[in-house]
Amino acid sequence: TKGPILVTGGAGYIGSHTVKHLLAQGEQLVVLDNLSMGHAEAVPEGVTLVEGELMDAVLVDWLFTEYKPEAVLHFAASAFVGESVDEPLKYYKNNVVAPLTLLDAMKKHGTLRIVFSSTCATYGNPQFVPMDESHPQVPVNPYGASKLMLERVIQDCEVAWGVKSVFLRYFNASGCDFEGMIGEDHEPESHLIPRILMALRGEIESMTIFGTDYPTADGTCIRDYIHVNDLASAHALALNYLRGGGESTAVNLGTGRGFSVKEIIATAESVTGLKVPVTFGPRRAGDPPELVANPAKAKSVLGWEAQIKDPRQHVESAWKWMTGPKGGRYSK
Ligand code: UDP
Repeated sequence: TKGPILVTGGAGYIGSHTVKHLLAQGEQLVVLDNLSMGHAEAVPEGVTLVEGELMDAVLVDWLFTEYKPEAVLHFAASAFVGESVDEPLKYYKNNVVAPLTLLDAMKKHGTLRIVFSSTCATYGNPQFVPMDESHPQVPVNPYGASKLMLERVIQDCEVAWGVKSVFLRYFNASGCDFEGMIGEDHEPESHLIPRILMALRGEIESMTIFGTDYPTADGTCIRDYIHVNDLASAHALALNYLRGGGESTAVNLGTGRGFSVKEIIATAESVTGLKVPVTFGPRRAGDPPELVANPAKAKSVLGWEAQIKDPRQHVESAWKWMTGPKGGRYSK
């Protein structure tokens, strides 16, 4: 029988979509979330939500005693590139220091499986695209640096006490569940697709394109947009990979195709039939020009492949969430 899974950050954007996916597969789940970015409402019935801090060693130790998780999915983190440049200490504290408490408890209680939400931001400026997992990891912002540091910490823990890990290096998580009942609700919201849709709806006066002088075809940044439900299915596969005795590994999660900021704006206009009010601004600190995954290893190691490859589907699902019953915002 499958033991319970501890999901840190399970009330957040990617965590909650994964929780929904795993619950449908019959998994037993316990979410630890401080609700600083997450939403209690995003955690479905049938899943235990414990509100608290990852840094709270007493609470985390209690969680392991009480639920005896067989594995951890570690989502809880700060995840805005731009903010990380302005507030590096927040990123090192939340993304490096706080998870040490979690690893301490895993060691003490003998929980030896972790699926870690890492990022393509650990690679830094691309030396080649598409990027595979052997691409040098030279992060260009504190967010990427903090995620890379935790990768290293977990690797060192494997040597010392045998924890097995899958690092899932997400490219640009986007889109929302297709039922429209859970979605992306960040406050403040800085991600591209929601900003575009907020501008379309007149919630903000305009959206700003950060940089039009990049060395790309249309001068705007290129990203590999990976649908949040595809990320969810990758977590389920990574979990079962570790249960099956798989060796520690790191895999990219992307589609293998890149789209520019201008192309995503055009897609949003085509999907909604509305015009996006746009302004042109300077480059955002910490943004590499182009990030596109080579996702071949995820397929060979986990049997995972993105199913949702057309950015129209990312926009359509995000639009459904924003125009649905919750209007793109949880009540709390
Ligand atoms: N972007 C933009 N305007 C915005 C938000 C984002 O031009 O209001 C650009 C950003 O510079 C990057 C891309 O869109 O090139 C994706 O940014 P996002 O913040 O969505 O994801 P990140 O790459 O930071 O994870």
